[in-house]
Amino acid sequence: MSGRLHACRTDGVDKNVWVEFTQLAAEHKAVNLGQGFPDFSPPQFVTEAFCKALSGGPLMHQYTRPFGHPSLVNTLSKFFSRIVGHEIDAFEDILVTVGAYQALFCAFQALVDDGDEVIIVEPFFDCYQPMVQMAGGKAVYVPLRPKVQAGAVLSSGDWVLSAEELASKITPRTKAIVMNTPNNPLGKVYKTEELQMIADLCIKHDLLCISDEVYEWLTYDGAKHVKIASLPGMWERTVTISSAGKTFSATGWKVGWAISSGKIIKRLKATHQMSVFDCATAAQEAVAQGFEREYELFGTPESYFQQLPALLHHKRNKLASCLQSVGLQPIMPEGGYFMIADISSVKVDLKDQSTEDEPYDFTFVKWLTKEKGLATIPVSAFYSPEHRKEFDKYIRFCFVKEDSTLDAAEDILRKFSQ
Ligand code: PMP
Ligand code: GLN
Repeated sequence: MSGRLHACRTDGVDKNVWVEFTQLAAEHKAVNLGQGFPDFSPPQFVTEAFCKALSGGPLMHQYTRPFGHPSLVNTLSKFFSRIVGHEIDAFEDILVTVGAYQALFCAFQALVDDGDEVIIVEPFFDCYQPMVQMAGGKAVYVPLRPKVQAGAVLSSGDWVLSAEELASKITPRTKAIVMNTPNNPLGKVYKTEELQMIADLCIKHDLLCISDEVYEWLTYDGAKHVKIASLPGMWERTVTISSAGKTFSATGWKVGWAISSGKIIKRLKATHQMSVFDCATAAQEAVAQGFEREYELFGTPESYFQQLPALLHHKRNKLASCLQSVGLQPIMPEGGYFMIADISSVKVDLKDQSTEDEPYDFTFVKWLTKEKGLATIPVSAFYSPEHRKEFDKYIRFCFVKEDSTLDAAEDILRKFSQ
């Protein structure tokens, strides 16, 4: 194709780990612990709310308010004002998007100028870097570093961000810090002190913080999710992003949102109205009903925001003991629904299967999917090209799955580890 027939902003963003590995899993009919989605149904109260919305009259099938269906933004403002400790205006401070994905895209398009630097904490959800690039910005990376503790089971909490290293990446061109808690793929849940350190730097250098919190309800063993927007001085400079897909186990509904001060959301609204304009009305109505229910039941054992993590806590432990018993050292996640494990102990000769420059974990995951029928995700996909090689000995397992799926994965792992 002649150089005039495409835009350079799409250079290098054509390869996508989800497209590649989800297709591979399907082709090989593999047991799928790869892409992160539940293989069980969402809770009945939201599926019923969706059905009710569909039969709720003609307007449920038509466009709604472009920046968010009124019942949804009203309930989100009521729900999250209580949590953030700041009065969130339903119509000024919230933008409803096509999943958290589009909220991220709108945020980068709306806030990053040509040549701006955006600091991304590694490992990171893979789309941050290409989205920064497409906005004309430059991604700058700072890794969480594992503190190795001999003999102990490593936890995601042992992966830490150095304040000095983070500060050393800030330049006059730095515009924002992107973080993700609970983190995908590691499961790290940032403690208040860690968030305060990031917040102090944002305030000192007048930076934005884009905080991806899609797994906000999924924490284990007493780890507590804290919103960086709730720290003093952070509301007006933080964009908090979340997703009904993760909140209500309905990833296919693609309802997400961004919350920030009206001044910032105004900019995101501009990018949204010039791209998507409006999101599916009935899905938003169902999510609104879900939040209304959760508002009433908040903190009680009937709340889905208590029940889902309790269910996943059991699944996390089940997967961890399976991995340990076959000699794959897991990093115990404090949150989210993924677990990464060290594959260095698996002795398999993959020389003839690897292509030049392919990180080892990519070759391993392809082999595991094709030859053994178990789909996972290579962890180096969550690293920048410069750090990818240092982190190519881990693979990611998703545990938001039926116990029968986890059992099938266990059977596969036991067979080949014998
Ligand atoms: N951020 C993170 C960290 C994710 O894991 C995902 C995947 N769900 C997203 C954003 C995108 O969320 P959604 O499916 O709501 O677009
Ligand atoms: N967030 C999910 C994961 O990490 C899905 C990603 C995607 O499909 N883009 O697996």
